[in-house]
Amino acid sequence: MCTYMFDEPSSYLDIRQRLTAARMIRSLLGADRYIIAVEHDLSVLDYLSDFICCLYGKPSVYGVVTMPYSVREGINIFLDGFIPTENLRFREDALTFKLSENAEEVLLDRTRHYQYPKLSKSLGNFKLDVEAGTFTNSEIIVMLGENGTGKTTFVRLLAGAIEPDDKTQVLKYNVSLKPQKIAPKFPGTVRMLLLKQIKAAFMHPQFTSDVVKPMNIESIVDQEVQTLSGGELQRVAIVLALGKPADIYLLDEPSSFLDSEQRITASKVIKRYILHSKKTAFVIEHDFIMATYLADRVVVFQGQPAVHATATPPQSLLTGMNQFLASLEITFRRDPTNYRPRVNKFDSVKDREQKSSGSYFFLEDVAEDHSANRNKK
Ligand code: ADP
Ligand code: MG
Repeated sequence: MCTYMFDEPSSYLDIRQRLTAARMIRSLLGADRYIIAVEHDLSVLDYLSDFICCLYGKPSVYGVVTMPYSVREGINIFLDGFIPTENLRFREDALTFKLSENAEEVLLDRTRHYQYPKLSKSLGNFKLDVEAGTFTNSEIIVMLGENGTGKTTFVRLLAGAIEPDDKTQVLKYNVSLKPQKIAPKFPGTVRMLLLKQIKAAFMHPQFTSDVVKPMNIESIVDQEVQTLSGGELQRVAIVLALGKPADIYLLDEPSSFLDSEQRITASKVIKRYILHSKKTAFVIEHDFIMATYLADRVVVFQGQPAVHATATPPQSLLTGMNQFLASLEITFRRDPTNYRPRVNKFDSVKDREQKSSGSYFFLEDVAEDHSANRNKK
């Protein structure tokens, strides 16, 4: 008997690399071999596993491991925050996915219109071309692309941290950036840092209850910034970015270093904050469940990583996802219970069906989904 163990194999990888890693790990399976993996990206977990144990509890106090569930059941339980076999709720709210392209849009007041020009940026041997784009307030735009296709370069252009080749001004609006690499030099505690950089927000009851509390800053507020772990730093960095007054928030990989539980919380915090404050966010996200949850529209980066890439204008979730997934030769279906995206196994019946009809992102008709759900209730 032989056991292989993988602890967070998907960290730092983009979606294509994550699925390749999952296939390689599965190729180790054999008659007397099994594999245990710890994974925070739920789409990857879905693709990788045969059974799932959920762990819940109180961080640094205790943890409980559930019995193994089927993959589908395990992930749905986790997103739901409720274990039916134990009749136990371990999280207040569930993560649910939009039913249709514009289910929520009717409620939104998108009165501000922004634009950025066509942009080019050369960095060493790499060149990024960005097509001109428009966006509005109360909108989250997710940036999708493989590693090395210029996503970070684009948000740094939007933030004014670097200039485009022709030196034009990219945006005339106030922006707040959460960088991908977080290297704090601040000598002091988290509380001191928050008071120094975002005092007004940090003292504001609404911001405290919508952002600071759910991001669980309380538990690390008296810790020295220099001693924080990767996930703790990420939580502080997200709070710092959202706490700055701005029109446009740029969040470069907010889910990295976070566990699945924290990813759910962070996505809900980001979405609620942006929509309630009627601001705009551009979010770079490799976790497909989070990307689908967050995105109103998407920008797709394509080309040869580290050489040349182009960024499309913001486009609808369905069109953009289709374009991105077609380039990766990956298809997704929807879970009938909570509509979360599920990766189809390569060359499965669904995979082949969807590829031949060009529906890389969900085959099912959304209208059909609606009625199927209603009939169940
Ligand atoms: P992504 O965020 O999509 O992974 P980046 O925008 O970070 O991609 O980088 C795109 C490409 O540009 C990469 O190949 C990277 O190595 C290169 N690059 C980034 N910054 C510089 C720089 N200052 N000098 C030279 N090359 C750079
Ligand atoms: Mg990057």
